[in-house]
Amino acid sequence: LIAALKVHNAIPVAVGSGTINDLTKLAAHLTDRPYMCVATAASMDGYTAFGASITANGAKQTFNCPAPQACLADIDILSKAPTEMTAAGYADLFAKITAGADWIFADALGVEPIDDTAWSIVQDGLHEALADPEGTKNGDTKAVTQLTEGLMLGGFAMQWSKSSRPASGAEHQFSHLWNMEHHLNNGEHISHGFQVSIGTLAVTALYDLMLKTDFENLDIAAALKQWPTLEQLKEEALSIFKATDFPEIGWQEAKAKYIDHQELEKQLQTLKNNWSNIKKRLATQIVPFEEAKARLATVGAPTEPEHIGITKEKLRETFVRAQYIRRRFTILDVAVRTGYLEQWLDQLFGKDGVWDITT
Ligand SMILES: [Zn+2]
Repeated sequence: LIAALKVHNAIPVAVGSGTINDLTKLAAHLTDRPYMCVATAASMDGYTAFGASITANGAKQTFNCPAPQACLADIDILSKAPTEMTAAGYADLFAKITAGADWIFADALGVEPIDDTAWSIVQDGLHEALADPEGTKNGDTKAVTQLTEGLMLGGFAMQWSKSSRPASGAEHQFSHLWNMEHHLNNGEHISHGFQVSIGTLAVTALYDLMLKTDFENLDIAAALKQWPTLEQLKEEALSIFKATDFPEIGWQEAKAKYIDHQELEKQLQTLKNNWSNIKKRLATQIVPFEEAKARLATVGAPTEPEHIGITKEKLRETFVRAQYIRRRFTILDVAVRTGYLEQWLDQLFGKDGVWDITT
């Protein structure tokens, strides 16, 4: 594509969805010219995003490159896209619920303040845009318009922030990890939105448990006791990813967000003192698990890990591994730092849990 572009001065126009847009975006950037995209499915939020997600040397990577100068989305065309593509886009939009919750946490604990502009771009119309999964599935004009706008706005917010923080939290870390592990379902790649659907449900289930937890009585001393030193963290992070083709990333990313015992004590005190307020903000943000699952099922997105070839055991492992691969602060970090992760996982994957693996 780059070679073809270099022989003239034409402006490339990408007509297609994820991969076509991303390849054109990168090629346009590397040949130093603007480009335009014509969306053919409301399948993800990457059309208007800063950065291109491309598989290079066998691994999915994000390349820094500008968004298109213009993006054309004809709702008549988008609403006739294959239903699984629309379902994938709906799931990628649903992910902004948990991504927003993670940002609330990062904000409340003094890790990363909420940028009001980016927040408003993504979150203001979000709950409404997700309200009609049935209509979305059936290609209803209003529902598909709202979905498309929501996805485009997600891209704009990422441009504004020069970061994916407004649109991506722990649920995306699940998907990133599976990509890094070259996960396939019966030899087939799984769309970004379908991976994110399971990631979003997983993280939502964790939020449901967290919202039932009494952090006002958090035992800070116990939490500090289980928190590793930097040296212990290094050992742990390196051993977790030893057998992969990304042995260093866990250490590199976990180190970037590591805080020492003294700082952790302060952070947990903040959590404890402000829990009723934080809890209120989170409860308003989160769509409860059963409701989230019902809506994702209605639109035709996967709702069980097995639907995308992930066993329950692997899903449980992903909860533990995912927070190592990105420095972004999420609910997973809160779960680890408070010392609650294992007991919550025991509940989720235990008898009467959402994903019982005891039988
Ligand atoms: Zn996404």
